[in-house]
Amino acid sequence: MRVLVLASHPDDELLGVGGTIARHADEGDDVSLVVCSEGATARYEPEAATALQDSGRQAARVLGARNIRFLGMRDQHLDALPILTVIRAVEAVVREFAPDVVYTHHWGDVNRDHKVVGEAVMVACRPVGENYPRAVYLFETPSSTEWSWPDPASAFVPNHFVDVSSTLERKLQAMACYPTELRPEPHPRSLAALRSRAAYWGQIIGRAHAEAFVVARQVR
Ligand SMILES: [Zn+2]
Repeated sequence: MRVLVLASHPDDELLGVGGTIARHADEGDDVSLVVCSEGATARYEPEAATALQDSGRQAARVLGARNIRFLGMRDQHLDALPILTVIRAVEAVVREFAPDVVYTHHWGDVNRDHKVVGEAVMVACRPVGENYPRAVYLFETPSSTEWSWPDPASAFVPNHFVDVSSTLERKLQAMACYPTELRPEPHPRSLAALRSRAAYWGQIIGRAHAEAFVVARQVR
């Protein structure tokens, strides 16, 4: 099975879905990661983008993904681009990888880049013709999804869970490849918080650790 993860910034490709990526890899699935924005110019010096890509490549190796690609769009400016520009870039990736399963951002995130990428992915994966992805799952992004408006329409209400008890340690090792993105406890991007969040989702499905998703579409 071919799996494609489409994320906005370096580390978004694993914060909500890293344990699931490692499970796909362990089961022999072909996993590709695509990061749309360089994740650096809004916060760091331009050369930080290169360091983030190195972090991303290390993290992808830890998770067992086949490759990671950086589209290099400008950080925190995706909503300043015509949506068609982002859609075309995402469509080209979806055509090239022809995934069976796609993971992307939930629409309710406080980060606008996340919303733009999610919207572009939904357009690029629309069910037209024979060869469209059979499943699209929306992941949460700790330090964005839970910080959104107190609006039920933005709420992350998962209805698909993946047992990541066997892969959580690798997810945390992968996140440790991003020292500039890690924060101390109790920040949601601390290793302790990622572990306790996985434990919380695990409680909901009677497992030690889980990741949670919203099903955008499943076709069988
Ligand atoms: Zn992000």
